[in-house]
Amino acid sequence: MTIFYTGSCLLCLGVISLISSPVCDRCVASWPHLRHSCPQCGDASLQSDIPCGRCLSNPKPWHSLCCAGEYTGPTTWLIKGLKYHRQLATVGPLAHQLCQTIVRGHQPLPEAIIPMPLHWRRRWQRGFNQSTLIAHPIGKCLHIPIYMKGIRRTQPTPPLESLDRQSRQRVMGKAFTVDPLPFQHVAIVDDVLTTGASAAALTKALLSAGATRVDLWVVAKTPTPMR
Ligand SMILES: [Zn+2]
Ligand SMILES: [Zn+2]
Repeated sequence: MTIFYTGSCLLCLGVISLISSPVCDRCVASWPHLRHSCPQCGDASLQSDIPCGRCLSNPKPWHSLCCAGEYTGPTTWLIKGLKYHRQLATVGPLAHQLCQTIVRGHQPLPEAIIPMPLHWRRRWQRGFNQSTLIAHPIGKCLHIPIYMKGIRRTQPTPPLESLDRQSRQRVMGKAFTVDPLPFQHVAIVDDVLTTGASAAALTKALLSAGATRVDLWVVAKTPTPMR
């Protein structure tokens, strides 16, 4: 089903008429795609086909990363609009950009898509899980089921900056519980990739529950910190 929008672009407020996205063509064209990034962590890298030095010495638990863009400009406005201002019309453009990036990646598709779970308290406060909203149109478009049964976040995300690396890993290590999975190849959908601590913890829990390959699909990655 295609929904047609008329009115103004969600991002630049320019007039749009009879198009299938609430974001105008010009704003879609200026989407901040990642260029020359590490295929595992998404950080800026000279070559996009081999992992960066940090990932070579300390590989991520997920098999591959698919990221639709950098968390700047239009992606930030759309994601913040969704999470903090309940602008549900942003789900379409965000899911569309991620879906296009997945298709362009030519990777084998998973048997199921798993939205990054929120702790029940956060979900209750927000009223929805943004990753679930973004995952649904992608599943529809690629004909892959969304699976959430028996996958729970048992601990809210702590303020990670206040923890050192070891305590962060200890806290995150117990953040998810996953019942035995009926799939081998799955993909996690998340809105923003920052430290990757939650994604790594969920990936490990999914691998322990029977998955043999976990891919990570994210809409946006925070810019590579200056080192
Ligand atoms: Zn626009
Ligand atoms: Zn890397």
